[in-house]
Amino acid sequence: MPMTRNDALALDAQDPLAPLRAQFALPEGLIYLDGNSLGVLPRRTAERVQEVVTAEWGVGLIGSWNSAGWMQLAPRVGDKIARLVGAGAGEVVAADSTSVNLFKVLSAALTIARTDAPGRQRIVSERSNFPTDLYIAESLARERGFELVLADADELPQHLDSRCAVLMLTHVNYRTGRMHDMAALTRAAHSAGALTVWDLAHSAGAVAVDLRGADADFAIGCGYKYLNGGPGAPAFVWANPKHAERFWQPLAGWMGHAAPFEFTPGYRPAPGISRYLCGTPAVLSLAALECGVDTVLAAEPYGGLPALRAKSVALTRLFAELVEARCPQLALASPREDDRRGSQVCFAHPDIAYPVVRALIARGVVGDFRAPDILRFGFTPLYLRFVDAFDAALHLQAVLEQEEWRRPEFNQREAVT
Ligand SMILES: *Cc1c(COP(=O)(O)O)cnc(C)c1O
Repeated sequence: MPMTRNDALALDAQDPLAPLRAQFALPEGLIYLDGNSLGVLPRRTAERVQEVVTAEWGVGLIGSWNSAGWMQLAPRVGDKIARLVGAGAGEVVAADSTSVNLFKVLSAALTIARTDAPGRQRIVSERSNFPTDLYIAESLARERGFELVLADADELPQHLDSRCAVLMLTHVNYRTGRMHDMAALTRAAHSAGALTVWDLAHSAGAVAVDLRGADADFAIGCGYKYLNGGPGAPAFVWANPKHAERFWQPLAGWMGHAAPFEFTPGYRPAPGISRYLCGTPAVLSLAALECGVDTVLAAEPYGGLPALRAKSVALTRLFAELVEARCPQLALASPREDDRRGSQVCFAHPDIAYPVVRALIARGVVGDFRAPDILRFGFTPLYLRFVDAFDAALHLQAVLEQEEWRRPEFNQREAVT
């Protein structure tokens, strides 16, 4: 029996996570399937940022570094994120961007590899990894005398050999939503004598991640996607405690110093992950990020990440099935197997992916286009309903059947797709 709109409404009525949607200031009537690119504004954020601006900054001024706990923000938000990625307290800090954090951890991993296994020359990654990850790796490889080797996802294990220093992967692929088996690949890398660096940009807050369980070496992730931290929110960084006193900070700044206010001329790294701070923390952005992370932690009484993940899987499966049944023009580009798919569903069309996405946006269904041929739909279980997945599929069918994508205004490329 094909699913009806009433069936979708019935699923929402039974959804134990449904109350979490009220945390968000979602524009009326919008179906937002782009929380994997920029999460929705939490209701609490505007009020909290206003308080930081007017009271903490405006009145407290410089004294707020102490009295408002500004210095504790980066580790405090880090501790909250740690609960979402299987890391321990004191193991994560929120700082800088994902790109910059990748530079730090990849540099540290290369340094450890050079010391422990000097002959190894290769950084192995996936050809379809997010470009900034590949650019950072390419640049570090050039600077440090390593070679960046790119492989297709299925061929990665073949590249884990005595030449491999570091396996650097994004857990969930940004274009297809394909999810790697972090534990298995980390095990394979370790038995080949290599270290692992994981980018959790499309995992943190949507997929249950167990960094310690997988015994990963380093991880980074994004604050503005499923963590709802706001545009350009600080990212986060984790290092396995077994490397605690060994990983070097290539951007050795005073905030990562053991005693920044002693103003000594020599660098002495802070213990543990705090050394991955560099300059002065972005207080306003960290305050907003904390509100975003809190929206995910608010799921804890309802079953936490396993419950969010179960809903995400149900939403993506429903949407994929509906679109496959109703839009034969589109090819599913995401894994059909639930356990290999992150929190997004992607379809490919060789010619009209871009204008179809634009026509959908005009109907109030926000997904995005990823060059050259992908229509991408992210499903954030915190604020999406089953009826949203149902309605979005029907809008997509209508755009295709009525050929709305032909309209000239949908065929002009904007700067940000
Ligand atoms: C979103 C994303 C980034 C973003 O990096 P920024 O430094 O925040 O621009 C990096 N890597 C991956 C895999 C991403 O999905």
